[in-house]
Parts: sequence; structure tokens; C-alpha cells
Amino acid sequence: MSDSVVKDSGARALLPPFTDEHEQLRETIARWVSTEIAPHVDEWDEAGEFPRELYTRAAELGFLGLKYPEALGGQGGDYVHDAVWSEEMAAAGAGGGVGAGLGAHTGIATPPIWKFGTPDQHERFLRPAIAGEKIGALGITEPGAGSDVASIRTRADKTPDGYRVNGAKTFITNGVRADFVVTAVKTKPEGGHGGISFLLIEKGMPGFEVTRKLEKMGWQASDTGELSFTDVEVPAENLLGPENGGFYLIMANFQWERLLMALGAVGAMRRLLEVTIAYSLEREAFGRPIGRFQALRHKIAEIGVKLEASRALTYHALRTFIEPEAERQDAIARGEWGHPSITAGLDEVTKAKLLTQRAAVEVADECLQIHGGYGYMREYGIERALRDLRLGPIGGGTDEIMQEILGRQLIGS
Ligand SMILES: Cc1cc2nc3c(=O)[nH]c(=O)nc-3n(C[C@H](O)[C@H](O)[C@H](O)COP(=O)(O)OP(=O)(O)OC[C@H]3O[C@@H](n4cnc5c(N)ncnc54)[C@H](O)[C@@H]3O)c2cc1C
Repeated sequence: MSDSVVKDSGARALLPPFTDEHEQLRETIARWVSTEIAPHVDEWDEAGEFPRELYTRAAELGFLGLKYPEALGGQGGDYVHDAVWSEEMAAAGAGGGVGAGLGAHTGIATPPIWKFGTPDQHERFLRPAIAGEKIGALGITEPGAGSDVASIRTRADKTPDGYRVNGAKTFITNGVRADFVVTAVKTKPEGGHGGISFLLIEKGMPGFEVTRKLEKMGWQASDTGELSFTDVEVPAENLLGPENGGFYLIMANFQWERLLMALGAVGAMRRLLEVTIAYSLEREAFGRPIGRFQALRHKIAEIGVKLEASRALTYHALRTFIEPEAERQDAIARGEWGHPSITAGLDEVTKAKLLTQRAAVEVADECLQIHGGYGYMREYGIERALRDLRLGPIGGGTDEIMQEILGRQLIGS
């Protein structure tokens, strides 16, 4: 075997399901983030928000509609384009608050409108959301119900023209500046899972108020709101999906949200590893770069393993999730909620979410350690990464809920 065959050229073969086109998108996103976002993330973190104009700029570049049809102003791409968007935002330095604010809009608030919305809802909400003119949020969590979604208490009572909504939501990403909130409500108070519906509740509807912008540990540049609804009259045309069929919408949405979080964690770990290797080769102690101490080299090796294992499982979950997409769309259109395609990839996505969110926190902590005192200072961005990533094992379903889903599949309840 000749040398040229065995030598690693350093070029990475394309991993399925990514194509050349997806790789080009990766580069475009990375370039945008490094020139227009990364230089400002510390300032926005301090200020507690990023400029609203970032939505219009992202829309102008096509990023808010990557997977949506061109007929609605989207790019006509697919889930894989959106997967690239999530991973690359974090890898290029726009994870945390900026990624959360833009990501909640593209990844959790608009997908249910696209999938379950009427043509009228597509025009009124999805089109302006893709154009960056309206910001969306997803409102499920309540002060008394997070993991236990079936016990939400915000109720929507039937009126001749639609619904009257009373209740509250908390921890809602984009809650403060959202123009519409895809809101989970109880339409059958005694119904448990079977009594949940979704309403599109709009800014300016009398009785809908943002009661608080919450102070938090990380994700500083994104707003996290507490919302209240007092006799809010919501017209019937704002019902999203079937009445009392909201739980299916939640399940369909969670899968994608968890996958996006896994991709974001992979991106964040890529960045942390790169920055930390560079630092450890530059910083000297006892007459040599700290990266030349075996103890630190071994830490770096472990980080590399965590990243690669996370990436492999996440891409595997992505492939499993996207494979039956056409079947899934057909099943949704027919209202066949029990169809296996609806929950395809549940196992893989749950495992990826569990593995990656823990791994990313551990990796950030190790990288901070390798940076020594400088890691603890704001200017290096490592302490911010640790604060931001700590949300992962909580948001979008906690680690314990992921373990519960997987454990039940393995040994029953
Ligand atoms: C910054 C941030 C942004 C968020 N953004 C949004 C958003 O945009 N929209 C939205 O709807 N929600 C959002 N959330 C809410 C998030 O999804 C919830 O915080 C999460 O689902 C957990 O719910 P909880 O906080 O009520 O915790 P709880 O459900 O009260 O859980 C508390 C603890 O009990 C454990 N636990 C609960 N049930 C079980 C069980 N069966 N077995 C074992 N352990 C269990 C949990 O794992 C956890 O450790 C956000 C949260 C944060 C912090």
C-alpha cells in the first residue's frame, strides 16, 4: 500500500445525510455568524437581548425559511438544511441566547403552523414569520406544569366565535417580543392528554399580557417570558390542528426540538474543542505550551471522544427522523395519529438528546478548566458557554424524562 493511500489528507468525507449543497450552506452560515454575530455576542449577553433586526437580516439571507416551501417565501429545502442551521450557528459562535431566540422561532414555533396550519394560517403567520416580520414563540410550560404536560391548566372555553382563554405560561423563549404564541390550552378540562388543543394567540389581543421578563443563568441574549391570559377572546380560525388533538402536535414538535438541541450541542462542542486546542498550544507554563502536558492532552482526547460519539448518535437520529417524512406528512393529512411514522426516530432522538446535553456541559466544564483563570473571565466566552449549555439537560424535556422514555421502552413501566 502506498503512502498516499494511508495518509490522512485532513479532508473529511461527507457524512450522510449531508450533501455538497448542505456543506455550502454550512459555510455561508459560518461566514455570516463570524462577521455579523460573533463580534457582538458578549455585548448582547450583557444587554440581555439581541437586536430585533437580526430576524429581518436572517430572513433576508433565507435562514428563517430554509425548510419551508418557496410559495410561502421559504427556500424549498428540507429538514437537513435546518439541521445544518442549528449545528452551524452554535459551531460558529452564535449558540446560547442568539441561537435560542432565532431557533425558537424557526425550530419550535413555526414548524407546527407549517405542518398543522390551514392555508389562511400559513398566510397570516408563517409567511410573515419566514420574512422576519413576525416573531413566534411556543407556549406550553406553565408555572405548575413543565414535564407533566397533560396537567396544564390554561383553559379555553368555547364561545360562539371561538374560545375564551384564561391562564398563564412561563419560561417562554421569545415570550416578551413574540407577535404570536403557539399556545397549548385545555379545551376539555377533564381530558388529560386528550383535552389539549393549540391556539394562535396574538400580541395585542385584549387580556393577553407579558407579566415578566425572567432573569436567568444563561441564554442572556434571548428573552424568556412569563405570560398571562385573562378572558382573551381567540377567534375559531386561530385553532391550530384538531381540537383536543394537541398532544400529537406536541409529540411531533418535541422530536424535532430535541434533535435541534442535540445538533446545537454538537456544534457547541466543536467550537469549544477548537478554541481550547488553540489556547492550550498558545498558553505556556513551566517552559512549554500547556497542551504538551500529558494530563491536558488526555483531557483533550476525552473531549474529542465525547464530540464524536455525540455527533455520530445525533446524525443517526437525524437520518432516522427524516427517513419517513413523506409518509409522516401523509399520515398527518389523513389524521392518522397512531401511524408509526409520526413517532419514527423517538428512540434515537431521545438517546441523542440525553447524551449530547450532558456531554456538552461536561465538555464546557473541562474546557473552562483547561483555560485556568482566563476561562472564568467573561472575555474568553467559555464561562458563557458553560452557563448557556447548562440549560440543555432541562429544556425541551429534562434528562430524567429522556431516561424515563428510554427506560420504559427497555423494561416497561
Ligand atoms: C431558559 C428556558 C427556556 C425555555 N423555553 C421554553 C419555551 O420556549 N416554551 C415552553 O413551553 N417551555 C420552555 N421552557 C420550559 C422547559 O421545557 C421546562 O423547564 C422543562 O420541560 C422542565 O419542566 P419544569 O421546569 O416545570 O420542571 P419540572 O417538571 O417541575 O421538573 C423538576 C425536576 O423533577 C424531575 N421530574 C419531573 N417528572 C419526573 C419523572 N416522571 N421522573 C423523574 N424525574 C422527574 C425533572 O427531571 C426535574 O429534575 C424553557 C425553560 C427554560 C429554563
